[in-house]
Amino acid sequence: MYNIQSDFIDEQKVWDVLAENKNPDFSRIREVLVKAAEMKGLDLADVAILTNISDPSMLAELFETANKVKETIYGKRLVIFAPLYISNLCANECLYCAFRATNKDIIRNSLSQEQIVKEVEVLIKQGHKRVLMVAGESYPNQGFQYVLDSIKTIYSVKSGHGEIRRVNVNIAPLSTDEFRLLKEAGIGTYQIFQETYHRETYSKVHLGGKKRDYNWRAWSLHRAMEAGIDDVGIGVLFGLFDYRFEIMSMMQHIFELEKQFGVGPHTISVPRLEPATNSNLASHPPFPVSDIDFRKLVAIIRLAVPYTGIIMSTRETANMRRETFALGVSQISAGSRTNPGGYEEETEDDPSGQFSLGDHRPLDEVIHDVALMGYIPSFCTACYRLGRTGHDFMDLAKPGDIKLHCAPNALSSFKEYLKNYAKPETVNIGNELISKTISEMSGIARQRAEKLVQRVEDGKDDVYC
Ligand code: SAM
Ligand code: SF4
Repeated sequence: MYNIQSDFIDEQKVWDVLAENKNPDFSRIREVLVKAAEMKGLDLADVAILTNISDPSMLAELFETANKVKETIYGKRLVIFAPLYISNLCANECLYCAFRATNKDIIRNSLSQEQIVKEVEVLIKQGHKRVLMVAGESYPNQGFQYVLDSIKTIYSVKSGHGEIRRVNVNIAPLSTDEFRLLKEAGIGTYQIFQETYHRETYSKVHLGGKKRDYNWRAWSLHRAMEAGIDDVGIGVLFGLFDYRFEIMSMMQHIFELEKQFGVGPHTISVPRLEPATNSNLASHPPFPVSDIDFRKLVAIIRLAVPYTGIIMSTRETANMRRETFALGVSQISAGSRTNPGGYEEETEDDPSGQFSLGDHRPLDEVIHDVALMGYIPSFCTACYRLGRTGHDFMDLAKPGDIKLHCAPNALSSFKEYLKNYAKPETVNIGNELISKTISEMSGIARQRAEKLVQRVEDGKDDVYC
């Protein structure tokens, strides 16, 4: 179907296009911003121009355009999820990660299915509906079956009013046959970060284990999509190499997936290197990304692939997270722990975690804050459960129909959170926000929102369209 021998990351081309578009004049930048505002995406040269912006007034125009595109497509919705670390066993030697095989200073742990039940119960009681299951690249005796069993376990837990309704996964690359099993297990998105697209850097920071193989990782999303997983997530670990090079290379990856499968990634993650136990590299990133460049790269991604979700984790501080909502972020994690068993233990920044967190606030505090800013926290899982994935999701998203589904569903899932889990102060702010949002809606979207929210108020849970 596709030629696995070919290398879809063309490093020379990235450098050439960046050089050709160095020091772009204001009129050329504005041309790209006008094109971006049409929300049809950008090509490699356009992205190069935006990455080469340095003038503060042009940067302000970039942010303004990103904000408009974000508001037009996503409105005020912010999807909420929690990571669930099931194991920190790992056979690899990624120099930036606390889980790397030779690090003796963390306690190794892979959760039993009973322990996973306990973790999931804690998350459900907080109000979560979506989890991102995460593991190092080494499984206990059952091997890959451990991953499948864990997914099954997560879906099986019912507690009080809730259950986890979508399990996304971030685990090491699999074979096509294993991806088929992952699909059968009912996952939402399969997520994997290339870390760095720069081959030389990649080989310098990955010293042992299967992860040394750049191509096995780079082609993993082809295998996942071939196996029928429609929603895949990509990402770069920013700080390992020049962020301009990384965004341009990530665009090549996106174009390649679009060419082969007719649809690009469902989400893009933008982790920045954070300190990790015993990692000199994580504490001293070779290419640190400043806060301003970080905001810039979020805005560029928003304009380059307007319909792809952007995920911001709790690696970042509450302030940085707040600032990037306006620039394009559409999904955030909240109340996270990155050590297996961390939810039950209630540890805050356990040295056995994968890296340090920037935002330690519990879920309700984040929801309270987000709602105060006028954003609607969404726990919606409707698209995936109704089979609106891959092409179907993009077909729904592209003409702007997202407003007819996602906006009402976000409101009803938020209402469900307020009804069942929120603290009184959050309930007040949330209810006010829901009424205000509905009053600003019109037509079918408003009718749907009113109806769904009313059904939740009447006692029904899990209502969506
Ligand atoms: N072990 C699998 C892998 O490496 O693909 C999957 C899970 S890994 C625990 C998830 C991601 O955490 C990695 O892809 C990497 O980008 C990120 N990560 C590792 N160390 C980090 C650090 N010090 N700061 C920020 N993110 C880090
Ligand atoms: Fe293992 Fe993933 Fe950490 Fe690398 S990033 S050491 S593969 S858990």
